[in-house]
Amino acid sequence: MIADDLDSAARRLRELFERSEAIVPFTGAGISTECGIPDFRSPGGIWTKNQPIYFDEFLASQEARDESWRRRFAMDEYFSKAKPGRGHRAIASLYRAGKVPGVITQNIDNLHQASGVAATDIVELHGNTTYATCLDCARRYELQWVKEKYAAGANCAPDCTCGGFIKTATISFGQSMPEDPMRRADELSKNCDLFLAIGSSLVVWPAAGFPLNAKQNGAALVIINREPTDHDAIADLVVRGDIGEVLAPFISH
Ligand SMILES: [Zn+2]
Repeated sequence: MIADDLDSAARRLRELFERSEAIVPFTGAGISTECGIPDFRSPGGIWTKNQPIYFDEFLASQEARDESWRRRFAMDEYFSKAKPGRGHRAIASLYRAGKVPGVITQNIDNLHQASGVAATDIVELHGNTTYATCLDCARRYELQWVKEKYAAGANCAPDCTCGGFIKTATISFGQSMPEDPMRRADELSKNCDLFLAIGSSLVVWPAAGFPLNAKQNGAALVIINREPTDHDAIADLVVRGDIGEVLAPFISH
């Protein structure tokens, strides 16, 4: 069922939120566009302008690691200034009300954490770009440290003290999906009574399988997105509109 307008969408959402005990939001790029984070996969997005650097290339060549870090620092103007949007704040409100056992996200921008959801309750399917880790020993590095070393080394990506390569804590093209987040996302989607897909076109597998998972296990499925998605036909409610506008009525302070 597609909501006719924002008012009827809000009424229906309120009913669903009230009767649900375990709401699992699943968020994609669309929730962060009002925060100034570009949708990388959209036409004209960064990944359509630059060839992505595959994980194998990152491992194989210093040049690829240098270029990968050059691109990350060029993106800093977006990531370092971004603040949670209305969608993030509405989810954080439901979370504070004890209705959200966990948030699953395809985003790497750290904005759910910034909105007040505990990091331990956020499942990041594609990792997080606001810090870095060593690929061998998993030691965490802050981006400022990497940036200083990179500049001091004439734009050369620094390595860990253990000799491993340092990479943003994201999942690259060609890198396998992280096991623990995949397992947790699977559990959350199976055990919720309302699955809330927000700002994702739901085409990227395996992530696109979670709404189906939820639905097959008896949850209601709500899809909020500007564009139609592949799962609209099986959703209990589809809201096609601006995510911030749709979710703004659910922000509590
Ligand atoms: Zn290391």
